Amino acid sequence: QATAQPDPAVGAAVKAADRAHVFHSWSAQGLIDPLAVAGAEGSYFWDYDGNRYLDFSSGLVFTNIGYQHPKVVAAIQEQAGKLTTFAPAFAVESRSEAARLIAERTPGDLDKIFFTNGGAEAVENAVRMARLHTGRAKVLSAYRSYHGATAAAINLTGDPRRWPSDTASAGVVHFWAPFLYRSPFHARNETEERDRALQHLEDTIAYEGPGSIAAIILETIPGTAGIMIPPPGYLAGVREICDRYGIVFILDEVMAGFGRTGEWFAADLFDVVPDLMTFAKGVNSGYVPLGGVAISAEIAATFETRPYPGGLTYSGHPLACAAAVATINVMAEEGIVGKAADLGARVLEPGLREIAERHPSVGELRGVGAFWALELVRDRETREPLVPYNASGEANAAMAAFGAACKKSGLWPFVNMNRTHVCPPCTTSEAEAKEGLALLDAALNVADEFTV
Ligand code: PLP
Repeated sequence: QATAQPDPAVGAAVKAADRAHVFHSWSAQGLIDPLAVAGAEGSYFWDYDGNRYLDFSSGLVFTNIGYQHPKVVAAIQEQAGKLTTFAPAFAVESRSEAARLIAERTPGDLDKIFFTNGGAEAVENAVRMARLHTGRAKVLSAYRSYHGATAAAINLTGDPRRWPSDTASAGVVHFWAPFLYRSPFHARNETEERDRALQHLEDTIAYEGPGSIAAIILETIPGTAGIMIPPPGYLAGVREICDRYGIVFILDEVMAGFGRTGEWFAADLFDVVPDLMTFAKGVNSGYVPLGGVAISAEIAATFETRPYPGGLTYSGHPLACAAAVATINVMAEEGIVGKAADLGARVLEPGLREIAERHPSVGELRGVGAFWALELVRDRETREPLVPYNASGEANAAMAAFGAACKKSGLWPFVNMNRTHVCPPCTTSEAEAKEGLALLDAALNVADEFTV
């Protein structure tokens, strides 16, 4: 293990080079202090000073099988020895096998796979396919969503990070998806929320012109924006609206896919089949960059005789695909999808529910499988967030203090706006999860100090 002897001097050198030369995402470069990571295994990672962290963030919600799974590491090594790279316009064993294994698991007839290097590129290509398939330009996308940081994907994104990049949101129209806790429709229950959300979508379509809309894109369960489980019937309702108007339905499963929710895909929870489905992250637990679009037979047929005008040098990279093949096989052999469901139902949900009741700073608990969010509030009655909604995205004192308390105790949380998400690897054991919940419980005492 690279970390048997953590060496602070190495850590200091890594950090110094990072500070000098690495330009980090989403950050004011002078205001950050990235942890130097020496190694990781399973649900833990550690720094060069010997501090160990239980990872309740799965990186950026991608290490669904945990870090350094030996079978996946071995498969990457084996592929590197056999054929490290090859151009996309060839049939390559690991690429065909990854596509076959993914198509076998995607819902309905989403049986053709276009590979990308990550989630945003998958979204870019899904939108392009929808526009070419329909001959229409507009795309409807939800507020409180995240679809990636490239040109089209950031414009589709419905959170404040879009604002500085939103120079040309050509053809993108945002609408409100259901979220009862902060209902845009002032609904009193999930049924009302669903019905009003569907009516709002119908109205938006009517005023945008049904014949001008190429696609509706939704995260099956919005992740980064707060893990909001759509009310029963909502996604089926969107499916029906799309069918009625000939609109392509895109589900973005970049975060929710590949076991995270206790199903292979979150769409399976709702029995809904989109026309296009984007994936990344969990497809190979992020071991080598990979994403893609699963394409329905009807849309694939559009490009049978007409060339698809899009591609990437590293599309279906053999190393990334070998990692996907190994990851999917490991998930199947070890029953990891079921493990995520079980971890959620038996450990995370009851544990988090108890925590949520105990702490006045917790306004709502939402989630499924290994995919949970605690919405932190200053005041449970008014639901005033612990940071103002639509703030610049910077954590305020309360969230910063809470995050620092977690890290000091050895828990690595996923904190965004006024929420902390609990998204450990799906392979996290009951004992590890309970250890993490105890640390989270203690750190929430810090958040409680900021409540009214
Ligand atoms: N779509 C969703 C739902 C995501 O959660 C993300 C990333 O978090 C993306 C797209 C973008 O993926 P990537 O960062 O791999 O480009």
